[in-house]
Amino acid sequence: MKIENILMVGAGLSGAVIGRRLGDEGHQVTVVDSRSHIAGNCHTERDPDTGVMVHVYGPHIFHTDDEDVWAYVNRFQTFKDYKNRVKATTGGAVYSLPINLHTINQFFAKTMLPDEAFAFITQEQADTSIKDPQTFEEQAMRFLGRDLYEAFFKGYTIKQWGRAPSELPASILKRLPVRFNYEDNYFFHKFQGMPENGYTDMVARILDHPRIDVKLETPFQRGQGDGYDHVFYSGALDGYFDFELGRLGYRTLDFEKFTYDGDYQGCAVMNYGEEQVPYTRITEHKHFSPWESHQRSVCYREFARAAEVDDIPYYPIRQVAEKALLADYVALAETTERVTFVGRLGTYRYLDMDVTIREALEAAEGFVSARAASRKVPTFFTPPV
Ligand SMILES: Cc1cc2nc3c(=O)[nH]c(=O)nc-3n(C[C@H](O)[C@H](O)[C@H](O)COP(=O)(O)OP(=O)(O)OC[C@H]3O[C@@H](n4cnc5c(N)ncnc54)[C@H](O)[C@@H]3O)c2cc1C
Repeated sequence: MKIENILMVGAGLSGAVIGRRLGDEGHQVTVVDSRSHIAGNCHTERDPDTGVMVHVYGPHIFHTDDEDVWAYVNRFQTFKDYKNRVKATTGGAVYSLPINLHTINQFFAKTMLPDEAFAFITQEQADTSIKDPQTFEEQAMRFLGRDLYEAFFKGYTIKQWGRAPSELPASILKRLPVRFNYEDNYFFHKFQGMPENGYTDMVARILDHPRIDVKLETPFQRGQGDGYDHVFYSGALDGYFDFELGRLGYRTLDFEKFTYDGDYQGCAVMNYGEEQVPYTRITEHKHFSPWESHQRSVCYREFARAAEVDDIPYYPIRQVAEKALLADYVALAETTERVTFVGRLGTYRYLDMDVTIREALEAAEGFVSARAASRKVPTFFTPPV
């Protein structure tokens, strides 16, 4: 096997996982990142004043059904048991999310059993006159009814996406996003947890390899990969081409940080469903590490808005116009040589961490097998469109 010089653009999960696999394979890997830290958007750091582990780019909870990925992350970090139990403040009361039997009984001031609640929601609340819901709003009205939709979804969605739910596709909402029992664990996945020393420590261990060289505060621009045998690019797809076809739309987040002496809200995540409350949620970071003890607290008020030129891209919008532009960028990317686009930005998709790791492992394997068979390494391992 020929030892190759590989450039990884981005020291997030995508770059770290691919880099590690190729380093293990014997290749020489250089990882560059424009930021001053590794771990990308999963970055965690201890707040110097309070000692609290802060999820710098917003709350990250690890959850997966993928046994290989779970085994992979546990190689590099001890995972502490953690269940995400989200609360919501709306209409002057606090409720449990996702909407479950407790939420329904509290909201409608009833004491229904599961079957009674199911009949109540599907027969008395749901708007069954809507036969073929086309929009998010119609979907919510069809399956939940106006009361729950307006309290929990309408205002939150307007704030999160900057668009009326009547302009968003029905596909955003699952068929019946309600549980008719008291299960309030936000995720259904078999494996859930929080890395004991944070995600950045986990990524540092993935990157800790004699054949991996990490260079921070090193922005990559097209052409800088020329001296390498292959480039894996986990930056923004449109950014690679200097936005020459236009910009792919993103939502960005602003975090207003504040500290509190004690326990500010009693839980990690409190959503705010009403449109007149300008933030979507408040995150209290010390509750993500319940095995630690901190008197003082660090909280983030989270605001969502359209991403401008210098903002961090968080959530790809992926509506009709963006998908058309994406298809043009994908076609352009297919004309590049020796570059593979990976990760949430390189493929313009929202990816949970477990999916990111799964795809990164497959991309690295795909590279190794393409080389072994003298085949071209694909530009995309997962088609973005
Ligand atoms: C608010 C929010 C909450 C989330 N919560 C969860 C959660 O609870 N659970 C979950 O499983 N997932 C969650 N995710 C998803 C998670 O953040 C992603 O799965 C993960 O960050 C993807 O890793 P990545 O390496 O593909 O991208 P990133 O983490 O974005 O890493 C890409 C890196 O590339 C660098 N880069 C970009 N362009 C260049 C360039 N030109 N030159 C040099 N470097 C460059 C960037 O600085 C960045 O460090 C959340 C995402 C968001 C936005």
